[in-house]
Amino acid sequence: MPDLVLRAATLIDGTGAEPLRPGQVTIRDGKIAAVGAPGRRDPADAEIVDYGDATLLPGLIDAHVHVQFTAGPDHPTTRGIHMGASDAERIATAIGNAQRGLATGVTTMRDTGGYLTLNMDVRDAINDGHVIGPRLLVCGAPITTTAGHLHWCGLRADNRDEVVEAVRTMAEAGADFIKVMATGGMMTPGTSPGMTQYSEGELQALVDDSHRLRKQVAAHVLGTTGCIMAIDAGVDTLEHCSWLDETGQHGAFRFDAEAAARISPATQSVHMTVGAGSRDYVRGVDHLDEMSESDREELYERGRYHRAMRASGTPVVVSSDAGVMTTKHDEFALTVIAAAVTLDLSPVEAINITTYAPASTIGLGEVTGALKPGLAADVLVVEDDVGENICCVADPIAVYLGGREVARDRRLLAA
Ligand SMILES: [Zn+2]
Repeated sequence: MPDLVLRAATLIDGTGAEPLRPGQVTIRDGKIAAVGAPGRRDPADAEIVDYGDATLLPGLIDAHVHVQFTAGPDHPTTRGIHMGASDAERIATAIGNAQRGLATGVTTMRDTGGYLTLNMDVRDAINDGHVIGPRLLVCGAPITTTAGHLHWCGLRADNRDEVVEAVRTMAEAGADFIKVMATGGMMTPGTSPGMTQYSEGELQALVDDSHRLRKQVAAHVLGTTGCIMAIDAGVDTLEHCSWLDETGQHGAFRFDAEAAARISPATQSVHMTVGAGSRDYVRGVDHLDEMSESDREELYERGRYHRAMRASGTPVVVSSDAGVMTTKHDEFALTVIAAAVTLDLSPVEAINITTYAPASTIGLGEVTGALKPGLAADVLVVEDDVGENICCVADPIAVYLGGREVARDRRLLAA
């Protein structure tokens, strides 16, 4: 097959480097062969697609989604739909949501929990070419306690032996990584978001056995005690990392800067989830300058602890928790835009924190996430200059996955 060359007025490579204007990506055998200024060394038979005033950037990475969840109007509705669904319905929902993400530029999703092993089948169906979908990393079900957060996903473990067995069960079924609910959560009544679900010894056993099996551990942590326990147990990604106090109430925080400083930048990262509550501030906004001062301040305030962690050198990446209450899978661009305000990021930094940075923290840094030679040609094309205006990320023109155009104007292309 001849090379495919994509050209546009702006190219942002995802690594945090300054934009190229203009830029082009040369694609060969599904991978990026070259990135640079247009022209000169293109083979004579190369197919050239010129997107004019658009921007080329890496496909987005949403490293915390639930493809089986339906983003209902509230937690009880979303939970009820999932609990009442058949396995076939859960799989169909998962495929639909994964495709909605892909059509809007999310070329990689990491699913942080669904019913037992169903997401392994979804991932395999995508990888085997039976259905079109993004690159999907799955954990199967999250490991939780009886009566614990997301117990209705079916994987309960209540002591040291059971958490180890749960790790091995998910690994045997084909999990890409292990998810543990280290604290209670908002979506499951009767759990305590501010309190831990496991003892230090149980969490350590879970982490040790996962690492023995070469699986990363993603830990759901809302409460401060759970955050500290997860940091010290050596979990790889701290999901949410909200620093709630023991009451677990929204807005009641107990940030522990000393504990946060123990996060090892080489092996650990914080995955901030910027969901519907933050997205609503930037919905319909064409340029951040349009936002009212009060909206900007409220959104900025939401990021205070994550900004503090980032400022002290902790890797912080941004994902969405898509699937939970009103956080739709096809609105990740709004998460990118909101993150620019809440973490005070330039457009280039906002792209990095939702592409190459998460690729690196979830073990895909050699696979995707940047417009770099050797990586998969996962490319998003959006209108105008994203380097000047981050809001353009919500206007996708085309999506390429492994060098193949899979979506145009928010619609998936037939296989
Ligand atoms: Zn989640």
